[in-house]
Amino acid sequence: MAYSIRCADFNNDCPAQFSTPDEDELLQHVELHTKVVHQPMEWTPELVEVVKTHITKS
Ligand SMILES: [Zn+2]
Repeated sequence: MAYSIRCADFNNDCPAQFSTPDEDELLQHVELHTKVVHQPMEWTPELVEVVKTHITKS
């Protein structure tokens, strides 16, 4: 099972996409990416919930 998400699914124009075997790991990648690339966008519990709704499992 793989969890994947595209940054463009919940953010602006961004080509980044992530895929990991574990949902928590995926969220960690997205968190780091958001903090590094999309500042001053803040990584809030609300954003985590939004991100989670866009995760696809395959
Ligand atoms: Zn991005």
